[in-house]
Amino acid sequence: MQEKPATAERTIKLDSTVRVRFAPSPTGGLHVGSARTALFNWLFARHAGGVVVLRIDDTDVARSETRHEESILEDLRWLGLDWDEGPDTGGPVGPYRQSERLERYRAAAAALLATGHAYHCFCTEERLEALRAEQRAAGVTPRYDRRCAALSSEEAGRRLAGGEPAAVRFAVPAAEVAVDDALRGVVTVGASALGDFIILRSDGVAGYNFATAVDDAAMGITHVIRGDDHLTNTARQLLLLRALDALPPRYAHHGMILDPEGGKLSKRHGATSVGEFRELGYLPQALVNYLALLSWSHGEEEILEPEHLVTEFELERLSPSAAAFDRGKLDWLAHEHVMRLDPEEHARRFAARLPAGTPPQAAAALAAAAQPSLSAYGEAPAFAAAVLEPPQLDEAAVALVGGAREQLEHLAEARAVAAEWLEPAAARALLAAYREWGAARGLSAKRLLMPLRLALTGREHGPELHYVLAALDRATALDRVREALDRADPSSSAKGARP
Ligand code: GLU
Repeated sequence: MQEKPATAERTIKLDSTVRVRFAPSPTGGLHVGSARTALFNWLFARHAGGVVVLRIDDTDVARSETRHEESILEDLRWLGLDWDEGPDTGGPVGPYRQSERLERYRAAAAALLATGHAYHCFCTEERLEALRAEQRAAGVTPRYDRRCAALSSEEAGRRLAGGEPAAVRFAVPAAEVAVDDALRGVVTVGASALGDFIILRSDGVAGYNFATAVDDAAMGITHVIRGDDHLTNTARQLLLLRALDALPPRYAHHGMILDPEGGKLSKRHGATSVGEFRELGYLPQALVNYLALLSWSHGEEEILEPEHLVTEFELERLSPSAAAFDRGKLDWLAHEHVMRLDPEEHARRFAARLPAGTPPQAAAALAAAAQPSLSAYGEAPAFAAAVLEPPQLDEAAVALVGGAREQLEHLAEARAVAAEWLEPAAARALLAAYREWGAARGLSAKRLLMPLRLALTGREHGPELHYVLAALDRATALDRVREALDRADPSSSAKGARP
């Protein structure tokens, strides 16, 4: 059965409710740029109490893969960007994969052919390639020379009946297209820049612009927020919608994300996909916060949870200019979000990143130690290893430990009679007593604590010492102190055995 042209679907009364769409192409992971576009659409819809549609733009069959679709959905969910209609949830205007909507595009193309807005093109790829080469050599922008627009419908019909392969081209009207952009005002695109583009390839697959225009109309999309790299596409889509007698959505083209040198954000500058940031252990709300602030002018407050972003969001405040991705700023914001996290939730995330077999007491103490300094949970293993792995003392450290024998032995005695594992508070009390004991002997805090830190971790810096003590069980802590003292003592029997 022939499907109704897409324009007929406009009669599904979707009223004036805001309806936006995420339209990812499943040709790779979710790039932070696409995630930000999705975020703006989501914020806009949620702020307005509207509907979010997830549509998979998979007309590029050769490059689209199910695994990419799955990972994009997973990344969107991880970011907390939910949708009301989509390939998994269904909805009133599905299907939501373009590869499942081909009949609709064919019907819409037939409608455009019937109204003279489109024509069959029989030009071979060789001819088109030669034409492009010729135009390039002449210094003009390559575009179709409209040879097939001149064919009579009888001739076109004869050639089609004879089985000659034909694409369908849109007859671009010779005028300027005015895009009324919500952020930029009216932007005009000369139709001559567009050329009569293909809407349906000879194999029956719809081109991106055509599929998008047909679907935006059929799905009742009211607002399209996307990067300004789509401005000329918008001009094409507006012309198509006009020809299809469909209402265009309101368009808003935000600026792109650039790398710090002003180029396209690329792998060269580290992570660029949401999946990578997830792997690195960033909190989703931190990434969302950062992406929202990139080219969204806002007030004083920078640390915003998703629900605040929803409340605050106004489309008009989106900046049309490009913004540079600043990893340092992301890390700062991410750290602020870690600081605000409920300590239990933080400890759970921290422990999940540690090697299997890490004692839970150690994980808990280190998690508490790390909360004031962490930006992403991928830092957890190194943070923990610096305390849990056997210390390597250099000569200077050994000398310092050697000069602090009396106090370290005192500390060891106190530790020996305490519990196997100390809560950080108990460790703090033990250290306070140690300092009091030392102060009575005229020993500064530094002379008490630095040799202890070196004996326990082999490092001059690290988490606060009570966390270190809480992260090491009694036997380990005592072994480390004894071992360091053994190395420092020239008469130690073990000394010669060590390198
Ligand atoms: N699939 C397109 C992209 O990922 C969608 C662009 C759009 O129409 O918003 O760039």
